[in-house]
Amino acid sequence: MSVLSEDKQALGSEATVKTGRLAIEGRIIKKAECRPPATSKYMKMKLAHIVKNTQPKKTVKMIDKAAVKFKPVSVHAEDMIKSKQKKDGAKTYRADRDVLRQALFKAFEKHSFYRLQDLQQLLQQPVSYVKEVLQEIAVYNTAPPHKMVKFSIEKKTLLGRLGKIESWGPVEVNHHTPSCMTYLRAGHIPHLTWDVAENQLKLEQTPIYQMTLPSLVTNAKIIEKFGKGAAKFCGMPGKHAIHLTPFDPLGKLPGGYNDSKSIAVWTANGKVSLDVKTWRSIVNSFGCSSFESLVDYDTPKDAGQKKLVKAVDRTKTFHEQLFLQDEKVSGERVVALGGGFSKYHRRKCAVDVGLAENTAAYTVEFHEFTEGKETDEKEMKELLEETFSPLPPTKLCCISGPFNPKTVLFLVQQGIDFFDSTFPIKLAEEGHAFCLADDYPTSSKYEVVDFNNQKFADDFTTPFEGCACYTCTKYTKGYLQHLLNTRELLASILLVIHNMTEYDRMFKLIRKSLENSEGL
Ligand SMILES: [Zn+2]
Repeated sequence: MSVLSEDKQALGSEATVKTGRLAIEGRIIKKAECRPPATSKYMKMKLAHIVKNTQPKKTVKMIDKAAVKFKPVSVHAEDMIKSKQKKDGAKTYRADRDVLRQALFKAFEKHSFYRLQDLQQLLQQPVSYVKEVLQEIAVYNTAPPHKMVKFSIEKKTLLGRLGKIESWGPVEVNHHTPSCMTYLRAGHIPHLTWDVAENQLKLEQTPIYQMTLPSLVTNAKIIEKFGKGAAKFCGMPGKHAIHLTPFDPLGKLPGGYNDSKSIAVWTANGKVSLDVKTWRSIVNSFGCSSFESLVDYDTPKDAGQKKLVKAVDRTKTFHEQLFLQDEKVSGERVVALGGGFSKYHRRKCAVDVGLAENTAAYTVEFHEFTEGKETDEKEMKELLEETFSPLPPTKLCCISGPFNPKTVLFLVQQGIDFFDSTFPIKLAEEGHAFCLADDYPTSSKYEVVDFNNQKFADDFTTPFEGCACYTCTKYTKGYLQHLLNTRELLASILLVIHNMTEYDRMFKLIRKSLENSEGL
């Protein structure tokens, strides 16, 4: 036994502080040491302890069956919630049959297609009851009828992508892309009657028409009164896939006329302000298979930050207003993407409006880059990249306006699938015809011939050797020159037929070259 003491000498006045230094007071008289007992029991215990400590913490074990990480459960939490909801739904009382019938009619006035699940949620009625009443008043269709724009990408290459449009709204088309819509002005292919178009213009594929509003907007009320849609009003034969666009890609689009409520559309007689409400009622009364959302296109190259912000904000507001939940708007939605020359605003616009549900396709607002404007390929590439990068890559990408065969090749490479046929019309209206180089699209060259030129007056050769179109097989260069010289309407008709045939052939060649190029 010993007495311990704490040494606090160095602390002086702070003697209360514990130093932790302990000393033994007194002397050691007898020293004792503790040892474990020399018994076999103790040795066994020690051995067991050593063996236990030397065991590795992880060992490899051979197993016969795969280990199930998660224990399977038959009742998942989500299912529980669903069944609870179902149970609750079953508890909803059955409304009066007439009341439900009226509610159903009202619902179908807004949209033509519903999933049963959505309908049940909307009406707050038991599913079986909704089904029962539906069967009484309508042909209950369980097949998915809402096809939208059924587009699939068939191959991707470094030069662009090959795709197929199976249906455009309710119309089966089987149209391969890259390709173009057939541009209509005042509801017909410029300079052609439907008879001439059907019999003399031989296009490769089932056309998808691009109906442009400016030439029809002054008659919008009359078309609404007519009640059978714009295509019938314009005497279009048969049932076609028609896309309605608020602009005329060949018309003018001067800046400074859009405001926060409307965009300016230019007709032969001047400006018409198109607000969302008017556009919606036009879309509904025209009854086309698809239509475009409104975009503030007033974003010239010198547009300042303020103007760009305004334009993109307006595009977003127009988009939101157009697709208000309670308002009916019939047709597939092609969302227009703007943003001018600013990479940031291109991307912002794409994010703002491009990710909305029920988007059938995109159309890029690119009127500042069309034929005749000074363009820079690098700039176009960057702007398109910014536009497409936040968007799902599986949707059809359209572009509107006249683009020459060289630019078309370039745009196809950037991911554009669908153009319009304004380039051939533009050339024809200038008295020009074009012809692709023999090695197109290996080379992007093409030739534009001006038939106004006097030198063709006594040229009795065929306009383009090897072209199988109506114009080239029936007429001579000299006659085309004569028609233009005397301002005969037939000149434009013949030039439109040739140019459209050649533009159509161009897309066929592009598709063929994509087929032959290496896939990604
Ligand atoms: Zn021809």
